[in-house]
Parts: sequence; structure tokens; C-alpha cells
Amino acid sequence: MAGLLFVVAAASGTGKTSLVKALLERTPELSLSVSHTTRAMRPGEEHGVHYHFTEKTVFEQMIGDGYFIEHAEVFGNYYGTSHTGVSQQLEQGHDVLLEIDWQGAEQVRKIFPKSIQIFIIPPSLKALRERLSNRGQDSEEVIQTRLNGSVEEIRQHVNFDYLIVNDDFDAALSDLRAIIRAAGLTSAQQVVKQQDLLIALLNGSHD
Ligand code: 5GP
Repeated sequence: MAGLLFVVAAASGTGKTSLVKALLERTPELSLSVSHTTRAMRPGEEHGVHYHFTEKTVFEQMIGDGYFIEHAEVFGNYYGTSHTGVSQQLEQGHDVLLEIDWQGAEQVRKIFPKSIQIFIIPPSLKALRERLSNRGQDSEEVIQTRLNGSVEEIRQHVNFDYLIVNDDFDAALSDLRAIIRAAGLTSAQQVVKQQDLLIALLNGSHD
């Protein structure tokens, strides 16, 4: 059985990374695809954990080699999801989560029309600015560029299956978990996971 593919996108600074981290801690059967990026490493980030940090020329070569399922330029840097990682995991029946931008989500939608696409929005632009500033990892110029792009990004919500407002963290996490849980309970999923039970029930077995 192929695993489920979840895509989580949001405007930068919406708190998506923290939500996804908390989700993964509580959902061991879900694995995160680690993206490649050409952007500089932020303090506290680790190569191979947060991203595979890659030189621009190498990244461009990888695009040419068809290494990525999707890739996009976000705020002047390239980001991309590797083909092999995701496809192998899905074929082995593992559920995979991609934390990517809306441009990447659009490309994934075309290749994996059954992917479950979730979009996270902030409760206000004021909250978004505060989050970007509090992160303390980017310059004022970078923060302003990201904020300017946010409204454009938020416009993309119409293309997603689910919309979550990240106002209260726990409520947003609970919404995210509800979506993941429900997706695993569809009859298409359950018919495989509960195969033995269904066979026993349908055979009238009383064991
Ligand atoms: P950041 O630089 O803050 O880590 O990420 C900037 C944006 O790039 C975020 O919206 C993030 O989700 C997105 N991003 C991260 N990895 C990928 C990827 O592999 N593909 C695409 N299209 N976007 C990504």
C-alpha cells in the first residue's frame, strides 16, 4: 500500500515549522522529507537535519539531472524536494510530510493529485511581523521582504484542501493532527490496515 503524502505550506513566519515539529514528535509513523536549499544556514540549524545545504551551482546541476520532484525560488534562494527520498518512502507504505512553499505545493499537486494539502495562515499581519522579528535570525531587510510576500502567498489558500489558523498553537496543532488522523482512517486506508480483521469478520470467524 502506498503511504500518504501530506503537504504543509504557509506564509513565512506563520509558525509552520514549530507546528510541524510538534506534529512529528507526536506522530512517529510520519516522516519529514528534508529539503535541499541554497540559503545560508541559520544559527542552530544542522546540515542534513533541517536542510541539505547545497551550493547554487550544485543545486542547478541537480535540477538539470531531474533530482527534484519540485523546486522553487523563495526569497532569492532555491529550495527543492528530492525525488528518490519521497517516492521510495511512499512506495514502502510510509506516510511523508513535505513542508514547502505554495509554488512547490502546486507542482506536487500535479504529480501526486492525491496528496493532502494543508495551508496555515496567521491570525493577523501584525502577528506575522512579530513572529518574524522575534525569531531574531533575519535582518530587518529580510523580514520586510518576507512580509511583503506574505499577502501574495496567503492568496494561494484557495488551492489547498485544508486551512488552519495558527492563532493558538495547541489548537492549530490539534487541527493538524485531526487532518492526519482522519486521512489514515479513510476506508481506502483501513481496508489495507485492517485486512485481517475484515477477512475474519466477513468469514464469520468467531475467534
Ligand atoms: P526558510 O528559509 O524560512 O526555512 O523557508 C522559506 C520557505 O521555503 C518556507 O515557506 C519553506 O516552507 C519553503 N521550503 C522549504 N523547503 C522547501 C522545498 O523543498 N521546496 C519548496 N518549494 N519550498 C520549500
